[in-house]
Amino acid sequence: MTHKPTSSLDAFANAKLKALEATNRRRELTSAARGPAMALTAGGRDMISFTDNDYLGLSTHPAVVAAAVEATQRYGAGSGASRLVTGNHPLYAELEAKIADFKGMEAAIVFGSGYLANSGIIPALVGKSDVILADELIHTSIHAGLKLSGATVRFFRHNDVAHAAEILDAERSRFDRALMVVDGVYSMDGDIAPLKALGELCASHDVWLMSDDAHGLGTIGAGRGAVAAMGAEGLVHLQMGTLSKAIGGYGGYLAASRVVIDLMKTRARSLVYTTGLPPGTVAAALKALELIEADAEMVARPVMLARRFTEALGLPAPETPIVPLVIGAEADAMAASAALAEAGYKVTAFRPPTVPEGTSRLRFCFSASHRDEDVTGLIAAVRALGLSALTKAAE
Ligand SMILES: *Cc1c(COP(=O)(O)O)cnc(C)c1O
Repeated sequence: MTHKPTSSLDAFANAKLKALEATNRRRELTSAARGPAMALTAGGRDMISFTDNDYLGLSTHPAVVAAAVEATQRYGAGSGASRLVTGNHPLYAELEAKIADFKGMEAAIVFGSGYLANSGIIPALVGKSDVILADELIHTSIHAGLKLSGATVRFFRHNDVAHAAEILDAERSRFDRALMVVDGVYSMDGDIAPLKALGELCASHDVWLMSDDAHGLGTIGAGRGAVAAMGAEGLVHLQMGTLSKAIGGYGGYLAASRVVIDLMKTRARSLVYTTGLPPGTVAAALKALELIEADAEMVARPVMLARRFTEALGLPAPETPIVPLVIGAEADAMAASAALAEAGYKVTAFRPPTVPEGTSRLRFCFSASHRDEDVTGLIAAVRALGLSALTKAAE
């Protein structure tokens, strides 16, 4: 190793890490090797993962993997440049047509990731003289878009349509354009946004509605996502999502009207100034969407398993494959996660700032590729630890 002088930079980093450690908020990376059927080897331990976003197990599906390999052999490992230069390989057009059709919109555009999509879409549509209304629990990547836009931001209470209406009545007229942003499915709670009521509210106040369907695509609304699940077709102007969860690969997208998609191609900075996705990644997403369209039983299984789990433990029935178990203190949530790992189940503990203060939690994610006996085993492990009793006491 080369000799490195101690600098004020290292002193800063060290002090920052120490402070995070003192409040149980330091995060670390653990190497994790995934296999089929949610098998996971991490920290020298073989486990079944109940923490992935791979809701349909498509990241390891043989047909999806084969599509990625084939496209890689044909077009290369990388795309070579921005999509606006030479990175726009022919697979993109096919994938975008498929997404638009699946989402019931005129057109779609694929970004490098969901994070990049959110950071690019919002500033391309609103700016200084405009207002954004956002649910208080929106995903962190949307906050990046809000900041970059420079628009005035007003938060409404989680899923509270009346509160959003109150803000609009009081403030809409002061601004030029207005955008409302919500998650279709909230990743830390597993609940769905009231998209129909929000859509009607937006229509009556000339507000554009954007929904982030990262956790909805492939899992609810017969796989079509939160808009379909809530009967809000025609009310959501901007349907954003990711290809990294139920689709099992990587990338983000926006489905919208053709003219809005055309505007993104020339104005979304996180599309224009970044390299296109590798061809194999785009081919994998295309194959995954085909499988989702063809297999209703696979799409229904994650929610079915989540309900089996909550029923056995006397927890509220979930609408999505996400089941939160709020524990409270950071250290208790970490201890519960460690105990489940000991029993052979990977369930990550989520802490602030990812979740609100005092609501550190375990979040269980169910996948179509979980075997019945994995769920039975998990139920037994949670029971043995007395975890469901623990949350009831905390409520
Ligand atoms: C995961 C997630 C994203 C980010 O998507 P990536 O493709 O992983 O960058 C955006 N929004 C929500 C709600 C998410 O859960």
